[in-house]
Amino acid sequence: MEKIAVVGAGASGLFVGGLLSQKGFDVTIFDKNEKVGKKLFITGKGRCNLTNLCQPNEFLQAVVRGDKFLTSAIYGFSSEDCVDFFEALGLKTKVERGNRVFPLSDKSSDVIKILQNVHCQNVKMSLCNKVVKIEKFDDGFEVYAEDGKHKFSKVIVATGGKSYSSTGSCGDGYEIAKSFGHTIESLKPALCPILLKDLFVKSLQGVSLRNVKLKVLADGKSIEEFGEMLFTDKGVSGPIVLTVSSLVNRAKKVELMLDFKPALSEKQLDLRLLRDFEENKNKDLKTVLRGLLQRSVAEIFAKAIGLDENKKIHNITKEERQRIVEGLKNFKLKFGGLYDIDTGIVTSGGVCLKEINPKTYESKLIKGLYFLGEVLDLDAVTGGFNLQIAWSTAFACAKGIAGF
Ligand SMILES: Cc1cc2nc3c(=O)[nH]c(=O)nc-3n(C[C@H](O)[C@H](O)[C@H](O)COP(=O)(O)OP(=O)(O)OC[C@H]3O[C@@H](n4cnc5c(N)ncnc54)[C@H](O)[C@@H]3O)c2cc1C
Repeated sequence: MEKIAVVGAGASGLFVGGLLSQKGFDVTIFDKNEKVGKKLFITGKGRCNLTNLCQPNEFLQAVVRGDKFLTSAIYGFSSEDCVDFFEALGLKTKVERGNRVFPLSDKSSDVIKILQNVHCQNVKMSLCNKVVKIEKFDDGFEVYAEDGKHKFSKVIVATGGKSYSSTGSCGDGYEIAKSFGHTIESLKPALCPILLKDLFVKSLQGVSLRNVKLKVLADGKSIEEFGEMLFTDKGVSGPIVLTVSSLVNRAKKVELMLDFKPALSEKQLDLRLLRDFEENKNKDLKTVLRGLLQRSVAEIFAKAIGLDENKKIHNITKEERQRIVEGLKNFKLKFGGLYDIDTGIVTSGGVCLKEINPKTYESKLIKGLYFLGEVLDLDAVTGGFNLQIAWSTAFACAKGIAGF
């Protein structure tokens, strides 16, 4: 029986290992952790958003790096196939807002149990056993793990990215790839918070803004994201910020502007202000601003646009009113870079796609060596897309090896 090693018992490693064992291969999955799927466990805040149920062409639009490369794998094993696969193994699923698929139980542990106990029931698990080196021989590979040397005819590297390193995914796969002559596209944090240089940030920590628009100019290219954002100790986070981080992580110059009132045009906002001013003539500016913004934000907003929030409305000039409108629509935030790579939901960059066969995920440099999932230079926005990349690349690899 042909012996295959899989390095990494994460999403892609478990998936490919199970598929190959069912096709009669003798599969061993190595993981440095004591348990399988440590990162899977924390996905979707412990609920595991296992895929995004949309058509392959829509899916590919959510891919930030590697969309063309992924086309064959996503059509070969789509998000619909993923749901069918898990349902067939007994995992009931549900679809939530934005086509996000979760286990009905809301427990990522159920996804892991099914992968480990059902899908991988004939796979040998070699846990607490870090792979430190892999060497190629004419008739296969020698995998050097902490417990010694093992021979295999093929090796699949499914070691994940470099972020949330406490899960075990800390970038070892890049070193393995380099040792075989592969190029590593520079690693960047993706889906991570953004640092701001504005001094007011700390005082807004914990404040969440709903229905705002983040307008971004990255190396001259404009991006807009609408939704929720949250102030942290050093910057901003939340869904729209995470998406923006992935889109700007390679840009040299980034400008950020916040639109507090995206539903209103500048003209409509000005009319609203005129009405509010009329109704509150003898009150302070803060009375009107608090009708438009949260109290803590209103205070900082007034300061940032150079107005005293205690100024009486009847003393506000037309120019000052226009400054308020401009500030509400285009509030400048001072971009200070991205948080550290460890905070990224995923890692952008990785094994260069030009050196990988997109049909089988086999290295073009070394026959019998494969790379799957996040270790590759592939990443997508949030919503279940990154796990689907792991499932689809694993399926393509298993198909390539087993020929089904
Ligand atoms: C907080 C968080 C939430 C997320 N939520 C979602 C979500 O809801 N939906 C979604 O689509 N994506 C989500 N993601 C992203 C998703 O988890 C990853 O993209 C996906 O797990 C990548 O799968 P993988 O198989 O490539 O690697 P991983 O799942 O990271 O698995 C890699 C495995 O390799 C092992 N390993 C590494 N080096 C070695 C070595 N030298 N020897 C032995 N073993 C090794 C690691 O221990 C690990 O178990 C989330 C990520 C994070 C951090």
